[in-house]
Amino acid sequence: MKKLAVIGGGPKAAALAAKAAALKCCGLSGFEVTVFEKTTDLMSHWIGGYGYSDGMRLLCTLPEKDVGFPYPDTTYLLELMGLTAPDVNKAMLAEFSWLAYQTTSNLWRKGYLEWIDRKRPAPTHIDWSSYLKWVLEKAVTLSSGSVRRELDREIAEIEFDERSGNWVLLSKEGTLLTNPVQHLAITGTGDPGVTPIEPTSYMSDPEKIGVFNGKNAWTDKNLRRLESFQTGLANPFLTDEFIGVLGGGGTGASIAAALIEFNSKAPIWMFTRKSTLLSRGKSYFETSLISDPEVGTLAWTEMTFADRQEFIDRVDRGVVSDQIMETLENGNLINTSIEFEKIEVTNRNKQFDDDDDFQLWVVGKQWYVDDLTFVKAQREVKIPVKLFIDARGFNGWWFVERLQHTTLKTCLSNKLVRQILERTIERDLSLKFNLSRMDFYNLAEDLLRDAKDEIEKAWQSYAAVPKQLQWEDSKIYVPMVSALAQGPGLPNLSCLGLMANRILLS
Ligand SMILES: Cc1cc2nc3c(=O)[nH]c(=O)nc-3n(C[C@H](O)[C@H](O)[C@H](O)COP(=O)(O)OP(=O)(O)OC[C@H]3O[C@@H](n4cnc5c(N)ncnc54)[C@H](O)[C@@H]3O)c2cc1C
Repeated sequence: MKKLAVIGGGPKAAALAAKAAALKCCGLSGFEVTVFEKTTDLMSHWIGGYGYSDGMRLLCTLPEKDVGFPYPDTTYLLELMGLTAPDVNKAMLAEFSWLAYQTTSNLWRKGYLEWIDRKRPAPTHIDWSSYLKWVLEKAVTLSSGSVRRELDREIAEIEFDERSGNWVLLSKEGTLLTNPVQHLAITGTGDPGVTPIEPTSYMSDPEKIGVFNGKNAWTDKNLRRLESFQTGLANPFLTDEFIGVLGGGGTGASIAAALIEFNSKAPIWMFTRKSTLLSRGKSYFETSLISDPEVGTLAWTEMTFADRQEFIDRVDRGVVSDQIMETLENGNLINTSIEFEKIEVTNRNKQFDDDDDFQLWVVGKQWYVDDLTFVKAQREVKIPVKLFIDARGFNGWWFVERLQHTTLKTCLSNKLVRQILERTIERDLSLKFNLSRMDFYNLAEDLLRDAKDEIEKAWQSYAAVPKQLQWEDSKIYVPMVSALAQGPGLPNLSCLGLMANRILLS
């Protein structure tokens, strides 16, 4: 019996639940999945109100890339586990696919007909979340007990019991939220990082002074503030007041696109590390490797780490999808390349405690080539903005701060260990804790040269993790940081069916 606890009721949880239910429908009852969601809503990051989206954005991937996609063969994997089942993919297609959802009777929406005749439009995040909620609830019903979902259950503490080798999940109050389980899957986009602000006293309430991030810029209150600023610019061509967006990837671009929808003439200052916004590579050769890292032109794991990173940068991170790029092209966007350092705040009128009194300055370094010497040099820049959104992305290792087991937490807090783990995540998307000292050192020296003390410290923390994790009796699955080791589509929506196979059937 494989018992899995899943933290987070998002798309990955829906895919895992569907696969467990499909296996049950095919006569295999050895898979149990329990999903813990912190809010009272499934798919909370997609519906608006909880940040990350207002729900009205359009899905960037095709909806046909649903919870079973790319429908990889399960027979071989089941055989390796000593199991057989009729075609699991047929059950996935019949019960949980996007088409199955579209053809489910729905009188008010006309479903499938409407979607086809409107030329298969991209669903909004809310529409997509409705499909995924339908999947998860159906998995609960069809599996008759193998799949459970618990709402309003925030996992605040993750404990590891060394005597039993079980994970123990606890609420803020220390209440036990689950029966102990051996296998734990962490999901979630992750938390935004902290924006450095000076004076540091303003860091206690960045939203007050108009500093937002890729998550909270989408809350109703902050969206209204951004909208009223953009629409209220009397003469956008003469203003020297801007909204600044830091980050030229999907997060920054979709926020900038929303600002343009508020008022296409109002200027937006976009700060990116590269000198321009880049569009996403989307040829067959690129997307096939995202859909399945094993059937592309070259298997992912045969590529060097440098080539894998270049691929991720070209098609996933720091790039903008076509539909969002089109909106950005029609806006009044000023793009500047900057190595961001901090936000400086000046209070224009100290007597009043009004939001409008704050002036923000984006401080960072810019490269330039000296006119006379042609030497490349850096200069400090300070650009005034009125509101600022730090959209540099999210931290997939967000769960580490919730770990209670001291040696495990120390190990996963070490930056070098994390870099090594990201390169060695196993085929089943679990963290690998049994590297030999020599392999660990080889990988570490590749990342950090001449840093013997630092490498030894990282090794000591790595070697101290509980034995059950080293022997792989207990596992922690981390699909959202598995791109470099296992494939660029596994953290996102590009191959949810493959992700579920890898975790459940390995
Ligand atoms: C707005 C947005 C749009 C995106 N669009 C696309 C796209 O079009 N195509 C694509 O391939 N990728 C896209 N991505 C990237 C990626 O695919 C998504 O982040 C995807 O949602 C990840 O799915 P998930 O199930 O891991 O997590 P999420 O959808 O982030 O769900 C995580 C869930 O975990 C819950 N949670 C968090 N902490 C706890 C806790 N401690 N205890 C219990 N529950 C908790 C949250 O409430 C949330 O419901 C998008 C990401 C975002 C944020």
